[in-house]
Amino acid sequence: MPDQTTDRGVTVIDHPLIRVKLTTIRDRATSSEVFRRELRELAILMTFEVARDFQIVERTVQTPLAPYGGAALARPVIIAPILRAGLGFVDGMLQVLSDASVGHIGMYRNEETHRPESYYFKLPSHLSSAEVLVVDPMLATGWSATGAITQLKEKGARYLRYVCLVSCPAGLRQLRAAHPDVPIFTAAIDPELNENAYIVPGLGDAGDRYFGTYSYPTST
Ligand code: URA
Repeated sequence: MPDQTTDRGVTVIDHPLIRVKLTTIRDRATSSEVFRRELRELAILMTFEVARDFQIVERTVQTPLAPYGGAALARPVIIAPILRAGLGFVDGMLQVLSDASVGHIGMYRNEETHRPESYYFKLPSHLSSAEVLVVDPMLATGWSATGAITQLKEKGARYLRYVCLVSCPAGLRQLRAAHPDVPIFTAAIDPELNENAYIVPGLGDAGDRYFGTYSYPTST
């Protein structure tokens, strides 16, 4: 089996470490502390594959002994998390893209319509020359991702990639149909969405699990 599968713009990043860490964070018994750590490490691992075909330019440096013809990234990188769960990817990505800028996209999911509503958009001014990594752990209906990328394109973004941890066929179909030019990277494609637009089996609400905002059982 190949390390990863690429099907019409969708890359499933398949690696033993990613499978193991993804299993840990899917586990309902995993605490927010461990969830955060594992999500950060998953972001690091996924970034290697997401950046595999980043363009590079020649950069010559002087070693202590001689000139060396090396490489530099051709474009600056912007990490654009969709709030709030997308923030969980930022620390890990910055570990390996330490000079990236971070923009923020606030998309609120209307719980009745399951459609996104934009409430915040703050991206750096070099948007049009940068590699823009739009990140959100869950690609569920695909509407938030679609809306975020539409906004980014309207503001001038040209080199976009979408990165999520868990996706599902409905979300992939929606995003591919709306933005067929934007490659998608995911660690897993789960079978379905439930009636509340949660991915099944998924991992629950990624934002709640990352920020610890779920309800704890109360003792009486
Ligand atoms: N958002 C989440 O956090 N989880 C899902 O399963 C779907 C959307």
